[in-house]
Order: sequence, then C-alpha cells, then structure tokens
Amino acid sequence: MSREDYEVVIGLEVHAELSTKTKIFCSCPTEFGGEPNTHCCPICMALPGTLPVLNEKVVEYAVKAGLATNCEISRDSKNDRKNYFYPDLPKSYQISQFDKPLCEKGYIEIELDNGQKKKIRLTRIHIEEDAGKLNHDDFGGGSLVDLNRAGVPLIEMVSEPDISSSEEAEKYLRKIKSILEYIEVSDCKMQEGSLRADVNVSVRKKGETKLGTRTEMKNMNSFRSIVRGIEYEIDRQIDVLEEGGKVEQETLRWDDVSGRTFSMRDKEDAQDYRYFPDPDLVAIKLSDEYIENIRKTLPELPETRRIRYIEEYKLSERDANLITASKYLSDLFEGAIKICNEPKAVANWILSDISRILNEKELEPNQIPFTEKELAEVIILIQKGTISSAIAKKVIEELFVNPKSPSKIIEEKGWIQISDEGAIKEIVLKIIEENPASVQDYKGGKEKALGFLVGQAMKQTKGQANPQMLNKMFAEEINKM
Ligand code: ADP
Ligand code: ZN
Ligand code: MG
Repeated sequence: MSREDYEVVIGLEVHAELSTKTKIFCSCPTEFGGEPNTHCCPICMALPGTLPVLNEKVVEYAVKAGLATNCEISRDSKNDRKNYFYPDLPKSYQISQFDKPLCEKGYIEIELDNGQKKKIRLTRIHIEEDAGKLNHDDFGGGSLVDLNRAGVPLIEMVSEPDISSSEEAEKYLRKIKSILEYIEVSDCKMQEGSLRADVNVSVRKKGETKLGTRTEMKNMNSFRSIVRGIEYEIDRQIDVLEEGGKVEQETLRWDDVSGRTFSMRDKEDAQDYRYFPDPDLVAIKLSDEYIENIRKTLPELPETRRIRYIEEYKLSERDANLITASKYLSDLFEGAIKICNEPKAVANWILSDISRILNEKELEPNQIPFTEKELAEVIILIQKGTISSAIAKKVIEELFVNPKSPSKIIEEKGWIQISDEGAIKEIVLKIIEENPASVQDYKGGKEKALGFLVGQAMKQTKGQANPQMLNKMFAEEINKM
C-alpha cells in the first residue's frame, strides 16, 4: 500500500498572545522582551496570599475573535485550574477554561488551490494565561526561569479535525493570523512566539470511519516547520502502520535542524490535569448588549476589503486576494494610494518586488521596515522621471536594509536618473559605435535591435539612463546615418 491509500486528518490548537497592555490577572506589562523577571509582580510570580483579578480587555478581545470566526459566544463562562508541574509555571497550575469556554462552534473558510472554499470548524476559543520561559544555561548547565511572560493573556483556538493536508493546515493558520491581525487582538509575531500552534496529525486507511491515533507536535511557530513537520509525521505514521505496528498517542517535539520529530512524553488525558473551577475568580456572565457592542467594533474584514479592492481599484481577483490576505500589506496598499494616488503601481510594487524580497528574506509583512510614505515616494519619483524603474527596484532593496527617505537614498548613492540630453547623446553615440551589427539590423528593419541597444546603454549606465530618452535618441541618431 502507498501514501495514496491513506487519508490524513489534522486538527490545530492555535495559541495567540493577546495584545492587551497588561497581563490577564495583574497589571504587569505584556511587552515582549525586557530584562528577565522585570515584568512581574507577586501575582504573576504566584507568591502566597495573592489573588488574581480578570482583565476585562482579555474577555473583550476573545469575544471579538469569536465573533470574527462565526462562533457562538457563551453568556455564562468561567475559569478553571489546569494542574501540572513544570518549572516555568509558578503556581503549578495554569488558569484556563475547561468545560465553559467563552466561544464555541465557529468556523473559518479557506480557499483551496482549485478555487473551492472549505469550511474548517472551530470547536472552541478559550482564554488562559501564558507560562514563563526557561532559559537553558549552556555554561552553568542549569536552567534559569524568566517570568516576564507568565500571565500574558492567550486565546487558544481549537479546530475540529477537518484539515486534510499540510497545505490546508498552512492556509488555515494563515487565515487565522490574518483575521487576528485585522481585528487587532494579537500582533501575531510568530518569531516572538505570539502565534504558535500545536499540530495534531493522524492517518487512516481510506474508507475507514474511525479516526486514527493522533500525535501532537507542540509549539510550532513557523509555517515552514509546520508543513515539514506534518509531512514527516504522515510518512512516519504510514511507515509504522505498513510494518504492522501501532501509532502511539504521544506529544512530540519537531526539530527543524534534523528534520524529524522526537518524543517528549506520553500524552496526558484531561483527567491527568485535575481541572476544577478556580475558586479565586468569579463566573464570567456576558449580556447580549455587551456582546453586541463588541460586534460593532469589528473592522472591515479581509473578505469585504477584497471585494472593495476589485470594485474600487480594479484589481484582479488574484491580486486583491494576495494583498488583503495580510492586514499589513493591505494597510500599506491603502496608505500609499492616499499619498500617490496610483493604485495599480502600488499593487504592482507590493506584489512583485516587495513580496519577492519578503520571500527571500523569510520575513512576514509585519516585518517590513519601511512605511507607506517611502513606498509612495518611490512611485512619485518614477512619475517625475527622477529615477527609472530599474533604479526604483534598487531603492526598494535598499529600503529593506537601510530604511530612510527614498530621495535621500538616491542622493547618497548617486542613483539619480540621467535625463540630460547631452549626456544621453554621448552614451548613445558610444553604443552605436560599439555595436555596428545591431545598428545595421535596426536599419534593415529589425525593431528588436533597438531594444538591444537600449539595453546596452542601460547596462553601461548601471540603469541610470532615462529609457524613454534612449529609445527616442537611438532611433533619431540611426535614422540620421
Ligand atoms: P488536547 O488539549 O488534549 O490536545 P484538545 O481537545 O484541546 O485536546 O485538542 C485536540 C486537537 O486534536 C483538536 O484540534 C482536534 O481537532 C484534534 N484531533 C483530535 N483527534 C484527532 C485525530 N484522531 N487526528 C488528528 N487530529 C485530532
Ligand atoms: Zn504581575
Ligand atoms: Mg493539545
């Protein structure tokens, strides 16, 4: 039997750190980084005698996420203790939600490669606190605990096992990220761990009705490792089954360097956590009015923006899709248009050079180091004839390395377009002299030869000559001959 005889089943538990100013049960800052143990207080350090107070913003943000993902919002919810021992968890329990999560029964839609839409159901969204962080000390041989992250609010979004491939898993996570960015409840910086996923994978023979045994890869925080990890697990599990073995239900760690998974521990069941309602916190009762007021704060979501871009800016379906997939790209797009009023040009720069550089540098759109002001200025400089689009490409590259005003960049680098007639003529005559064969070709009616000559002139001037002027002057000079 081969891989085609198996069906893949995937469910994701996505953790997103909420971008509230303060932590979930105390008023410490949630800000990333800082010297170890400087963003904490007796409450998030779990000193005896302290009591948690729920941050209302956390409820608001979680409800917002629920509304944006078509969930039912619970009127009656509560916090529970999830008990386990780990050095980064100072209370020895995590305050989470067990049987009464804030949001349930939602779904989001992903678009498959064949254009079809597929619904992925969300089982639930609940709120909980993040744990601290262990810094493994390579020199002393021990581990140091940093509690800055302890008590940072999280939402956990649990999907039904509706995902059928690594591509779908990536699309699903990208969609979640996009929605959370649009509603501004999380900065979703995967490199800082603000968005991470536990990935549950199982396989079963096609036609089988019972789900296979799943394994769970913990804390995955890049799209690439999620896709690689899933592919690895599919192959591994099928191999085990093909050899007549059984897949063990276990928690795994994906290792990017060796490209394989390692067993972390046997999987706990819910009863191992001895969940019970946290007696230090009151129940969470939400009124219809409260929920409706939050609904009113929902911004224009990707889907609506997409339709508007097609109508208002005449973008193609594909281009509108690509830009609205990311709030950052979408904001960059609209912001630059406000300044330069050139929607087509802005879209082109975002989808060609900027996207290519993001890919090459493995950056996410929110890591673009410049703003709509710089992008618009590049486009205005091209319009004015100050730079050619060849130079503009170099300016965009430079903006990623050393972001500052594009006119400063071209001034410092001496990249101003040569539009002086005398200078252009000099180049044209030189190229004509060096390329007699092409000149003859052009005279003989080969239009293409002109392009070659212009290309040579651009090459010699490192892209700085004005291409329109070159075209015109080559034709003029050769016709004179
Ligand atoms: P736990 O916290 O124990 O991992 P949850 O119920 O919170 O349990 O999450 C389980 C996740 O695993 C869900 O996303 C669910 O869709 C997924 N899942 C459950 N069974 C399977 C299975 N057989 N194969 C793949 N994914 C599964
Ligand atoms: Zn605190
Ligand atoms: Mg899990």
